[in-house]
Amino acid sequence: MKVTLQENQSLVLIVDNEAFNRQELRFLLEQSGYRVAEAKDGTEAINVFQQLHPELVLLDTILPDMDGFECCSKLLSIDENKHTPVLMITEFENTESIENGFRAGATDYIIKPFYWPVLGFRVRRLIEESQLHQKLVAANLELQRLVTIDFLTQLANRRRFEEYMDHEWRRMARLQQPVSLILLDVDFFKSYNDTYGHQSGDRALIEIAKVIQNVVQRPADLVARYGGEEFAVILPETDALGAAHVAQRICSAIRRLAIPHINSQVSSHVTLSAGLATLIPEPSSNFEEMIAAADKGLYQAKAAGRDCFKPNNLQSICNMRVFLSQILMSQEESSRVS
Ligand code: GH3
Ligand code: MG
Ligand code: MG
Repeated sequence: MKVTLQENQSLVLIVDNEAFNRQELRFLLEQSGYRVAEAKDGTEAINVFQQLHPELVLLDTILPDMDGFECCSKLLSIDENKHTPVLMITEFENTESIENGFRAGATDYIIKPFYWPVLGFRVRRLIEESQLHQKLVAANLELQRLVTIDFLTQLANRRRFEEYMDHEWRRMARLQQPVSLILLDVDFFKSYNDTYGHQSGDRALIEIAKVIQNVVQRPADLVARYGGEEFAVILPETDALGAAHVAQRICSAIRRLAIPHINSQVSSHVTLSAGLATLIPEPSSNFEEMIAAADKGLYQAKAAGRDCFKPNNLQSICNMRVFLSQILMSQEESSRVS
């Protein structure tokens, strides 16, 4: 493998078993300002391709260890970017060979002996097209990210929440497993804005979002900004007891965050109220009932004095008794130890 280094120029990989052919192409390409890597057979081509990620491959059809078509397919199957152009250079001018090249995924085809001005233009055009394609893919990915992310908190937004809730609801219906939802609402947040200003309110929301995200750990869990000062946590394959644990840890973590709120009527710091719902989805149902149930729980938590969480279904209430008795037992144990 031989590489010439000239930073900021596109790298072209020449794959040809004839040293003379490689030298000739190298000379012409370097004259035009490209960086060049060489490989003398298919195996070496694959290694160099994986290591150096060239922007274009010039590939001979006759190689000692595999033919150029096989090499082309192999290169494209390991191409992480999925759009590295391959230009096949061959002595064969027959339809079958050309068909084989395109079928193997080659972007273009040129017959030997080549006329450099034509090849030079094709090289430039293929690289430009590939770079444009890469920019489009990157822009598309960023766009997809932006439409699902809440700009202020960088959490999933309401749109992503609905999409994911629908997906997980149907998955849990198939598996007949419980899914839990926690709706969280910042207490007395209007008066927080009135007291500290809207910008401080924004900063508080960002901090609260980070804390919730830190508490919620499993890869399948999703934390979203549901509305202004409301957050939602989707917990697939989680029963009411598990959801209560998560809600308790979120409320405690927000208390520990200790954002001062002198005009809160429940604490000197910012607090959250939460409503919980847990269901094993019926196959033909939709998740609206789940949101309504969690919302009812949230309403009850507010009515019960805020800075607390309320489950809202029978299963949750049964489990809640177990949960509360566990907490009581652990408190008794720790007081016996101290
Ligand atoms: P409760 O304890 O009953 O939830 O009272 P609350 O004041 O939090 O509820 P209310 O619905 O009356 O007010 C919500 C406030 O949240 C009003 C609005 O100013 C604030 N808010 C919503 N979105 C944002 C935001 O993006 N940034 C800031 N700074 N404030 C927001
Ligand atoms: Mg609210
Ligand atoms: Mg509120």
